Amino acid sequence: MNRILDIDPVEQIAVVDPGVLNAEVNQAVAEHGLFYAPDPASTAICSIGGNVATNAGGMWCAKYGVTRESILALRVVLPDGRILDTGRRTIKGVTGYDLNALMIGSEGTLGIVVEATLRLRPKPVHTATLVAYFQDVAAAAQAASAIIAARVQPSVLELMDGKTLEAVDAAQGTDHAARGSAFLLAQTDGYGAHLEQEVLIEAIRPFASSMEQATDADQAEALMAARRAAIPAVERLGRVSICDVGVPRNRLAEAFAGLDEIARRTGVRIFTVAHAAEGNLHPIIAVEPGESITDGPAKEALAQMFHLAQRLGGTLTGEHGVGLLKRDWLQEELGDVSLGIQRAIRDVFNPDGLLNPGRAI
Ligand SMILES: Cc1cc2nc3c(=O)[nH]c(=O)nc-3n(C[C@H](O)[C@H](O)[C@H](O)COP(=O)(O)OP(=O)(O)OC[C@H]3O[C@@H](n4cnc5c(N)ncnc54)[C@H](O)[C@@H]3O)c2cc1C
Repeated sequence: MNRILDIDPVEQIAVVDPGVLNAEVNQAVAEHGLFYAPDPASTAICSIGGNVATNAGGMWCAKYGVTRESILALRVVLPDGRILDTGRRTIKGVTGYDLNALMIGSEGTLGIVVEATLRLRPKPVHTATLVAYFQDVAAAAQAASAIIAARVQPSVLELMDGKTLEAVDAAQGTDHAARGSAFLLAQTDGYGAHLEQEVLIEAIRPFASSMEQATDADQAEALMAARRAAIPAVERLGRVSICDVGVPRNRLAEAFAGLDEIARRTGVRIFTVAHAAEGNLHPIIAVEPGESITDGPAKEALAQMFHLAQRLGGTLTGEHGVGLLKRDWLQEELGDVSLGIQRAIRDVFNPDGLLNPGRAI
């Protein structure tokens, strides 16, 4: 199920099978001057079906939202064989409960997505990209919060800590870590991209030790590629567990300080990247090849990260989902009433627990 079934450039819609890869959609619609906004760093290897099931996010989500904001309709097969159509092809529409939104992010526990109608967007006429380096990650986090407070809307705002920068440099032969202990990649887009970038530069200036503006598309793409390389670069250093917590955007600096403490207390190595515009942090735990990532110090570190996020008013998953690993902490975040209602909803769709048993809810 890997066909692109229809592209309607006037309505800015594509209809695809669930096995189409995220990157393939963007390759196919580019010739129409359009793009599909949710772009996980795994774009080259992840499917639209998987993106829908996890409500995946990505770098452009800073401005264009996560998968839920870009899915107009779904065709879903229920465990008893019935076919359920959710949503509609129109941009607006409020008939009935929003089963489309419910299906997105349900981690395959409610039905199997067999077709998706995607909302495409006009490819921005201009982009303006810059990278800023900082003495420490706290300064980078403060700069990210200052950008949000400045009422400017970046289309990309990605942060990497010093340890991740060193890993990226080792993997890619670059020298980012020589320029600072944290890296903030910011892009603005649209007709006012360069004007917005000026506001962004003023917001960053008090915190940064240096800034560089990309002078052409290749340089901008190299910076985006450095961020996309972060997880594979850390994976070269041991067995990894990629955590995914969300915090309010003005509490990013506290989150980074808390992660440092967790690394000290548990003795695990933590490398952190963040979709800073959404307060979505990916602390990556790396242990030695023979060590467990689901038990012992790694599990303890994960538990402490979830509690840190919750203490800061955040959430235990920003975009990767609950899966198996995070079910232990679900009740703490949702509470009995919400969890009870969600399990009752699952049982309406999937009464015999045939779909992804033991996952998500
Ligand atoms: C290097 C790397 C970088 C990543 N970066 C990001 C990122 O930036 N943002 C982000 O959000 N995630 C990221 N991820 C996580 C992951 O790629 C995403 O969650 C992606 O959406 C999963 O898609 P997949 O096709 O790999 O799905 P799978 O991993 O195969 O499946 C994920 C879940 O979806 C269910 N599922 C799959 N297809 C369907 C279907 N048709 N109907 C119903 N359920 C289905 C599966 O049962 C499973 O529960 C990253 C992962 C890696 C390895």
